[in-house]
Amino acid sequence: SVLADQIAAGEVVERPASVVKELVENSIDAKSSEIDITIQESGLQSIQVIDNGIGIEHDDVKNAFKRHATSKITDREDLFQVRSLGFRGEALPSIASVADVDIKTSTGGEGTNLHIKGGKLTDEEPSEARRGTDITVKDLFFNTPARLKYMKSPSTELSKITDIVYRLAIGHPKISFSLIHNRRELLRTSGRGDVQQVIGAIYGIQCVRKMIPFKGQNDDFKISGYVSLPELTRASRNYISVILNGRAINNQAISQAILHGYGSKLMVGRYPIAVINIHADPLLIDANVHPTKQDVRISKETELSNLISDNIYQVLSKQNL
Ligand code: ADP
Ligand code: MG
Repeated sequence: SVLADQIAAGEVVERPASVVKELVENSIDAKSSEIDITIQESGLQSIQVIDNGIGIEHDDVKNAFKRHATSKITDREDLFQVRSLGFRGEALPSIASVADVDIKTSTGGEGTNLHIKGGKLTDEEPSEARRGTDITVKDLFFNTPARLKYMKSPSTELSKITDIVYRLAIGHPKISFSLIHNRRELLRTSGRGDVQQVIGAIYGIQCVRKMIPFKGQNDDFKISGYVSLPELTRASRNYISVILNGRAINNQAISQAILHGYGSKLMVGRYPIAVINIHADPLLIDANVHPTKQDVRISKETELSNLISDNIYQVLSKQNL
């Protein structure tokens, strides 16, 4: 029901950045090699995500807007080894219950165009045969004024959007991303698989020269990333990006492990720029902790932390600081 979707929206769709995250993750799951994101007024006016992924079959499009309709896991076992970013089947119905959604999608042949407002289907027609999905979300929270009032300043909402897009781009260097806000281009990545290029696109080319690569692995985890020299720091931890199996996560233990790798080389209150991609057996990861899936539980977290701090310590030691 629309009411149940609006209740779920309370958790999944906290702000415009949550919509961007859910849509872009769907595009990644759909095996896109190109994802273009266009935002107006920090996402409150409109958010458009165009991908060139597998698209949705005509007969499945309406279903994709029903609660718990996911094409990504089929049985209970799958839930314990999730390989996709989505699996709860909540995002599209939640978003559509609190906004005005227009979706055009095609698997190659004639496509489908649906218009759903406040959870109600208002229009349906065929659309062009361009493989992929083009989804526009307008007037977010138009029917939930209390949520709309709770929004922070436009610049804060925009920075939450760039935060998530930057992290997803770091985690998926083989996808070419673009992010445009009010006609200004905020990100463009090449999609050639080069994490350094992504870092340059985000933090500027001068920063890239001061970023040191590291990598390592043990039986359970494979890590790779870049950390800034201790001279290149920021006043917040927000420049530490942790990507686990392609998912941008918040994890105190991992951020702490990165800082630990610096030993006493950082000034108090200063933090490095760091990006780390971690690959782990999905069996070791539980992302089903919260609807947004940004908090995950990791088995063997201590081993992972040690792997990270040891490797960072070693590469920084070789820099003769
Ligand atoms: P989930 O991602 O958890 O499966 P969503 O509500 O985000 O749930 O999406 C519902 C379904 O719609 C997905 O399982 C997928 O089949 C389909 N879908 C959504 N977005 C796309 C897209 N960009 N390309 C292809 N399929 C999509
Ligand atoms: Mg999803």
